Amino acid sequence: MKTWSLMAAGLAALALSACDAVRYPGDGGERPRPPATDDPNAPPPPPPTEPVLDPYGTGETGEDPEAETPDEAPGSTDVSDPVSDPEPETPADPPETDPEPEQEIDPVFSFYAPGQLLPGSGTGAPDQIVHAPDIVFPIRTAPAYLQSMVWNFGGGIGGGDECDARNFDYPWRDNFCETRSSNRNSPLCPVSRIHQGQDIRVGTARECEILRGTAEDDRMLHEVVAVEDGSIYEIGTYTVKLRAGGRIYRYMHMNMDALQVDEGDEVQAGDVIGYVSKDFGGTPTTFHLHFEIIQNTAEHGWVHVPPYLSLVAAYERREEGPGEEIQQTVSTASAPMFPPDGMEIIE
Ligand SMILES: [Zn+2]
Repeated sequence: MKTWSLMAAGLAALALSACDAVRYPGDGGERPRPPATDDPNAPPPPPPTEPVLDPYGTGETGEDPEAETPDEAPGSTDVSDPVSDPEPETPADPPETDPEPEQEIDPVFSFYAPGQLLPGSGTGAPDQIVHAPDIVFPIRTAPAYLQSMVWNFGGGIGGGDECDARNFDYPWRDNFCETRSSNRNSPLCPVSRIHQGQDIRVGTARECEILRGTAEDDRMLHEVVAVEDGSIYEIGTYTVKLRAGGRIYRYMHMNMDALQVDEGDEVQAGDVIGYVSKDFGGTPTTFHLHFEIIQNTAEHGWVHVPPYLSLVAAYERREEGPGEEIQQTVSTASAPMFPPDGMEIIE
């Protein structure tokens, strides 16, 4: 009887150990945990690895299926015997397993190459640098579409309506260096009089309609977050500036009556600072977030740098999947369109 009890307890310990072994996150077990879907900062899940278990750290690869799934023995669930219940063995860390060759993952969004502005809207910067490599995407959860707010539907030149469903679609489009009539510049743009940031349309066409039908002060549909740990060091009529080390992030057109921060506040990356709206000091614009990165560079000092690729990388992390860079199919050599005289579109 004693022998049987020991054997049963041993089997129970074996089952417990094997069970514990498959619980290690990312250990290549057969039942990896799904990634948390409510955490915008969650890293992508680890690549699948061989379903090899070695709960005892012996170097054996557990090819014997019996070792992984021992049959239940009669009485094996009796692990409460204080006499015959030995300390369950603590399995050693599973050995590194060779990951399988990386699988092709379907893209979750698409984007035109940096610098490929909408034809006729200006001359872009073919900048390939991710200037802010670790930022959180500035929109917490909603789908986001980087594009021109002037040359698309509902813009000053695009005509039509800003809630047109065609505005809420990929691919993304760089609009740093887009033509402006105001004297704003960046040494990283090929020409002067430019748009110094990236415009981000947010949500869906239906939500655009809802926002339009909501009183200005109550527009709180899409959360805007701090992209880095830092401090809110300036709040203007329609701008919020976040200082983080050698960078300043400038957010524009949020609902200024519903800001979640005050000047001087310290914020962490991902903290909600406000909501997407169209506040522009009385000047008409569309529902969108205008986002700038002003960086202290060795070559130029404090200058506006292209935010586009930093936002591509941040969105890939938020969406836990890659973006697909696609080639422009329309010639960029088409005749440029300039804002009419007297039409002061600055952001
Ligand atoms: Zn803008």
